[in-house]
Amino acid sequence: MYIQNLSVLEEEHTCPDCGARMDCCEAPPVHVGDGLGWGSEVLFICLNDDCPTFKGGWDKVDVNYGHKATFRNMQLPGSTEQNVMMVASKIAFTGSIIDPEQMRGQNERYKKEKDAIAALDSCVARNDISPVMTLILDEAASPESRKRAIDLLIEFNDLSCIDAIRNHSFRKTEFEQKCNMKISELLKINFLKECPFCAELVKSQAKKCLHCKADI
Ligand SMILES: [Zn+2]
Ligand SMILES: [Zn+2]
Repeated sequence: MYIQNLSVLEEEHTCPDCGARMDCCEAPPVHVGDGLGWGSEVLFICLNDDCPTFKGGWDKVDVNYGHKATFRNMQLPGSTEQNVMMVASKIAFTGSIIDPEQMRGQNERYKKEKDAIAALDSCVARNDISPVMTLILDEAASPESRKRAIDLLIEFNDLSCIDAIRNHSFRKTEFEQKCNMKISELLKINFLKECPFCAELVKSQAKKCLHCKADI
């Protein structure tokens, strides 16, 4: 999940019925009832099970609609207007509580990914490999942009990418294999190979490693 406006995470909402601090929750994709979204990415919801709105709601719903459900008090960001959400169980929304710290981290990663993707088209001309490396090493980045980034590796002819890639643990072997192929290509055009003992780069014709003195 990505939040456009991070300032909502700083908001404090208090339930008007029970005085409990309302939890910042991820808004459900569709407002069950009218089929429209809430127009907000997050909602502040009173998840206090002793809240009168929640406790008294079961009977109200039963009498009026004849089914088993109740209400939670809800406020939209930037507003203290009281709304209620119908919930069918105690645990509704408890799984979508947002941890502001975690959300900030996710947003930061997402922003870095966006910036790197935007920079991909021009980074070769600027000889700036950083957006390419950002995407290759970001396991959460979109697979298409990571593939594009890997395909650009050769154009930079920058051997420093090798260590960064070798030290990264890829979750998908597909990307690791693609990177390995690019590294082989890169070494080939530079007449180099990796020493199988110490991983340092040595001349492709070398019989002895310059670094660890091993016979190769
Ligand atoms: Zn409450
Ligand atoms: Zn060596």
